[in-house]
Amino acid sequence: MARRKIVAGNWKMNKTPSEAVALVEELKPLVACEDVDVVFCVPAIDIVPVVEAAKGTNIAVGAENMYFEESGAYTGEIAPAMLVDAGVKYVILGHSERRGYFGETNEDVNKKMVKAFEHGLTPIMCCGESLEEREQGVTMDLVRQQVKVGFLGLTADQAKTAVIAYEPIWAIGTGKVATTEQAEEVCAGIRACIAEIYDEATAEAIRIQYGGSVSGSSAPELFAQADIDGGLVGGASLKADFGKIVNYK
Ligand code: PEP
Repeated sequence: MARRKIVAGNWKMNKTPSEAVALVEELKPLVACEDVDVVFCVPAIDIVPVVEAAKGTNIAVGAENMYFEESGAYTGEIAPAMLVDAGVKYVILGHSERRGYFGETNEDVNKKMVKAFEHGLTPIMCCGESLEEREQGVTMDLVRQQVKVGFLGLTADQAKTAVIAYEPIWAIGTGKVATTEQAEEVCAGIRACIAEIYDEATAEAIRIQYGGSVSGSSAPELFAQADIDGGLVGGASLKADFGKIVNYK
């Protein structure tokens, strides 16, 4: 069975609650599409108004991060149950900005993955190499390690419904898109890694996105690749171009 494409926007630290509602209103008609899952991953403070503004549309709402504890003395953190209660369906975990600026490790990401599933949230787990790592030829080793540790303790049934976003760090927010061949090669390698951890059926079911300066003009070729099931989109998710990415066909 063909995998359904999934295009998720990562708003990062942009848009106040009122600006967020205005952006949803602007993008709503542009992202209407029946055969692609559309997700807006928004800052925590925008979640409640965005869920409200997206009611009755095809837009699912995601968070950009979450903590792995249930509740308690973790000042500034957001618990999975809070996200679920607010209407969130997806959560980005292990984005390279969280790994790079906030010291998140593969082990932290794994704890969050386990928690997300306990609460019925679909994780979008990010992985990807720096330019230095690519030049050293360790891209696939590094990405495989991120995936293997990230999925520790998860069942095949859980893994089948997860989303992995392959995001080369050197392509994020830089305007440099990985070539179609580079993106497909690593996404295929991730799928092979999932087959090794689980089985072929799980590898065939899991959705793998490419992320890194995706635009309306680069999306059609990227998303036509055998192992690329959509995109995680930063900059362009804040603009009308996001509608073109969703309706890439
Ligand atoms: C991202 O932050 O996940 C991302 C891919 O950003 P951009 O599209 O801006 O490169």
